[in-house]
Amino acid sequence: MSAQSSSATPRSTTAAETNMPSVKYCLDKVNAKYIHGRPEPELVPSRYALKVGSIDVMVVSDGVLNLPGAMLGHNADPAVRAAWLEDMFLPPDVLEWALNVVVVRSGGRTILIDVGIGMEFPDLPRAGKLVQRLEDAGIDLASVTDVVLTHLHMDHCGGLFVDGVKERLRPDLRVHLAAAEAKFWESPDFSRVAMPPGFPDALRRTGKRFLKEYNSQMRTFENEYEVAPGVLVTRTGGHTPGHSVVRLASGGDRLTFAGDAVFQVGFEHPDWYNGFEHDPEEAARVRVRLLRELAANRESLVATHLSFPSVCHVALDGDVFRWVPGPWEY
Ligand SMILES: [Zn+2]
Repeated sequence: MSAQSSSATPRSTTAAETNMPSVKYCLDKVNAKYIHGRPEPELVPSRYALKVGSIDVMVVSDGVLNLPGAMLGHNADPAVRAAWLEDMFLPPDVLEWALNVVVVRSGGRTILIDVGIGMEFPDLPRAGKLVQRLEDAGIDLASVTDVVLTHLHMDHCGGLFVDGVKERLRPDLRVHLAAAEAKFWESPDFSRVAMPPGFPDALRRTGKRFLKEYNSQMRTFENEYEVAPGVLVTRTGGHTPGHSVVRLASGGDRLTFAGDAVFQVGFEHPDWYNGFEHDPEEAARVRVRLLRELAANRESLVATHLSFPSVCHVALDGDVFRWVPGPWEY
């Protein structure tokens, strides 16, 4: 692969749950170096709207996840990783990841792309805000015609299990995901991930719960599916076998929601393995391919864990990439 840094030192991948502090530990570090104190949660901006041609797009924050910094690149040399975090004014051991969801309206359909984490993990109390924030934005769950799940990790599907949500969603709701994703969670492989204690079990549980509880609404696709005019969900694989991205195109404008194909560190270090990636080598290949394409066609990028509202562009920077945040458009 070109457009990669050479600073990662591949090592044998750590097994699940090794060398990772708990998320409870991470939560307690909230006033660590470079992390500000916290205002009342609803004083922070939690939604940002834009248009892609005639498609209405709204990025909604589900909150933030407190996670170990090492998850950003568990194959990287720890000293190189620590230096990168310091250069980015990020604390060395704990990060707060944004958790973005997108609402899209096109051709009379209202589409939720991912649904946040819900209440699936008790030590992540600063996420799981989606239902409240959709209400605050005037979006009734009963108006949602389609849900697209980029993959079945709990921070992307957990919102479906919040008390009362299923009852408020329409009976004819369609939930789209790649067939390969549904298949994977029947018997998921966690041998290559690096996660905090408790995560693999919680992820297995929520993946299986989705397959059981939403089986009748599930609509699977092999490689791509046009959910509504200009709204195309496309399987990439990598992060999970059925991981998918959503490409929006209308009136000459384009935006891609990359799900977990791109993390903040992925611009400078696309070859760093994220701890949630079930096939890290393939995930890195997917990331490089997507970032190169977005740099070439100059379209906008939104991703689940890029800082809210995450609307940005991708530039080539020698062998690697550069993150170019978009200006706020009021
Ligand atoms: Zn995620």
